[in-house]
Amino acid sequence: MFQPSMHKPSGQGPTLGILGAGQLGRMLALAAAPLGVRCVCFDPEPEACAGDVSELVCAPWSDLDAVAAFAKRCDAITFEFENVPAATLRHASTLARVDPPVLALETGQDRLLEKQLFERMGLSVHPYEAASTAAEFAAACERVGFASGSGTGVVAKTRRGGYDGKGQAVIRSREQISAAWVALAGSMDARKDVLVEQFVPFERELSLIAVRGAGGAFASYPLTQNRHQGGILRESIAPAPSVPASVARHTARYMHDLMDALQYVGVLAIEFFLVRDAAAEDGARLLANEMAPRVHNSGHWTIDAAMTSQFENHVRAVLGLPLGSCEVRAPSVMVNFIGAMPPARDLLAIPGCRVHDYAKPARAGRKVGHATILDAQADDPRVKRVIELASAADARPV
Ligand code: AMP
Repeated sequence: MFQPSMHKPSGQGPTLGILGAGQLGRMLALAAAPLGVRCVCFDPEPEACAGDVSELVCAPWSDLDAVAAFAKRCDAITFEFENVPAATLRHASTLARVDPPVLALETGQDRLLEKQLFERMGLSVHPYEAASTAAEFAAACERVGFASGSGTGVVAKTRRGGYDGKGQAVIRSREQISAAWVALAGSMDARKDVLVEQFVPFERELSLIAVRGAGGAFASYPLTQNRHQGGILRESIAPAPSVPASVARHTARYMHDLMDALQYVGVLAIEFFLVRDAAAEDGARLLANEMAPRVHNSGHWTIDAAMTSQFENHVRAVLGLPLGSCEVRAPSVMVNFIGAMPPARDLLAIPGCRVHDYAKPARAGRKVGHATILDAQADDPRVKRVIELASAADARPV
């Protein structure tokens, strides 16, 4: 098995390189420190918030000399940002071990490849079609949404580069198709690789986060229930309440198979829609929406409420160390802070509220922190209070 710490004199732990230095890199570096692992992040942005807690190398993704110099210092390299150019990752992988594999990154960067992978692995997906021109787009909207009789319309998404609801348009009627194309592609004549998906009238959104080690060990956290608004995650409830046992069992098995097929090492997240289906065992079914080949926002609760956090498990996996237990220590609710942080004094006065401030400047639509309320269900008054504080901070002019 891969043992990077063996190259080092005793007492000096391995160095983990992280491509990307946003809040996910910050939380990875914070989880790595108690294991004696030093992190060095790489990001084009000099103010990236992981730079507060780890060394930060600042250079453009395209500067392959800088990538090489960075890689030579690292015992292992991972990434926290899924839009790292695949060429950058491939270059780094010639000089150091890189996990998760480049193929997983490339698949996660393209919504069409993602859907095709899900289908190959036997996961259910909702109807979709790819389109690259206005005419193909109109035809796809018609087939997937309007002529299909689903009555719910479509969601159009750019195949690459979208995140947190950006690069998406919900189309409810035929009259909205042209405007949606212009919004996504820039003009009627432009070409753009787009995916047209049927709009799913889901009951709930769930995600599964799992980790696979270098030797094939596998562990998964329980399904988490997520609420998005405007395409951005607002709250997660963990474990997701009242999920049929068959759904949880099947989902973990598919995840295991998918990670084995990719020879995946590290943490992987898949987001699902739960839909009612009278024909299914237990009356419900999960449709796979997208995957993230990295630690994931819907797993932030694991820092405070699981035996081993997703961040620590990712560090363990990519360094070839034994995985930690994914067992839940307490039911919890995670609330994201979008735009601006609520006053720390108000949050810290709430019992059992664990606060994570990413120390990022306030900006509309930006994730700047989160809180996890321990021993809580969704209707806990402490959760309501944190959501109120989050909304008040978000509404403040920034
Ligand atoms: P995504 O970037 O694919 O994760 O989409 C962001 C959010 O938009 C999801 O978490 C859902 O809340 C919503 N959404 C995306 N695709 C669909 C769909 N096909 N049907 C209904 N809602 C969707």
